[in-house]
Amino acid sequence: MNALRQALQEWYKAQQRDLPWRHTQDPYFIWLSEIILQQTRVDQGLPYYLKFTKAFPTVQDLANAEQQEVLNLWQGLGYYSRGRNLHATAQQITLEHNGAFPKTYQDLLKLKGVGPYTAAAIASFAYNLPHAVVDGNVFRVLSRYFGVDLAINSPEGKRQFEALAGELLDQHSPAQHNQAIMEFGALQCKPVSPNCSVCPVQETCMALLSNKVSQLPIKIKTVKVRKRFFVYHILTNGQNELAFSKRGPKDIWEGLYEFPLTEFATLDDMLDYLGGKQIIGERFQHVLTHQKIEAYFIKTTPKENFNSNYLMLDLKALTDHPIPRLIDKFLIAHSGELF
Ligand code: SF4
Repeated sequence: MNALRQALQEWYKAQQRDLPWRHTQDPYFIWLSEIILQQTRVDQGLPYYLKFTKAFPTVQDLANAEQQEVLNLWQGLGYYSRGRNLHATAQQITLEHNGAFPKTYQDLLKLKGVGPYTAAAIASFAYNLPHAVVDGNVFRVLSRYFGVDLAINSPEGKRQFEALAGELLDQHSPAQHNQAIMEFGALQCKPVSPNCSVCPVQETCMALLSNKVSQLPIKIKTVKVRKRFFVYHILTNGQNELAFSKRGPKDIWEGLYEFPLTEFATLDDMLDYLGGKQIIGERFQHVLTHQKIEAYFIKTTPKENFNSNYLMLDLKALTDHPIPRLIDKFLIAHSGELF
């Protein structure tokens, strides 16, 4: 334990990346970086962090913003529920905590969208409290170094890895320790092709000694992918405007704008419906974490599909109306064929 703890910190001092959220102890900036970086690579998340901190320098500024403004800035990061939670949590902090972030791990956990990982990250980075972070990087380092072959997404596995992370935590400098183990997982003990040949703990790493590096960590595959079949209607009013509608709650892309949609239960149903219709472009496939969408875009006349609730928008107006990545991909490829 001691050897690994020390090696991690020495390695971190020499190898760490210079990232803006590492120069602050402000819980608001730390929370912002953690929410942006969930399921997002650092190089992709960094410009978003800079945009958000510039647009909303305090948690009150974020709380006072319109949700649309927040979603517009979030556009391109995916997982829009995180963008909405970010806004809702800022309002919760402003209303329930007078604009000050909670100062304990337990109180941080009560915030919307803040789970054990994010609470431990804020508690340690902002307040130097001794809470170990356990994210994908930490699971991987612990599993390999200690040769633990319990599934990281099983209840028993989670319990044991959390206990191990807690035991390894440097109680005197938890912030630096947490940064070090996560950075070590991200840069050195990478998921694929870890740098074992130049690793400072290669002589005591159980996975390397037993030739199991590529087998660890173990994860049970549980994700069931739901298939969906979308036909989008390209409906114009003759004045360079297209019909859009806003997606409702309890489904993907809540609050985003899309063309009028007809959804089908099966691929065959969709293909039957498309017979004789004027299709623009090819079939689009869009993969989300738990869903796979097959989509077509067709030209439709107001007579075939009209609803007075549609919003008629010029394409230029889309900068103020966030759209799903699927619609964006279609417009990039076929915006010249719509009118
Ligand atoms: S030796 Fe390889 S597997 Fe073991 S901790 Fe180092 S990088 Fe990871």
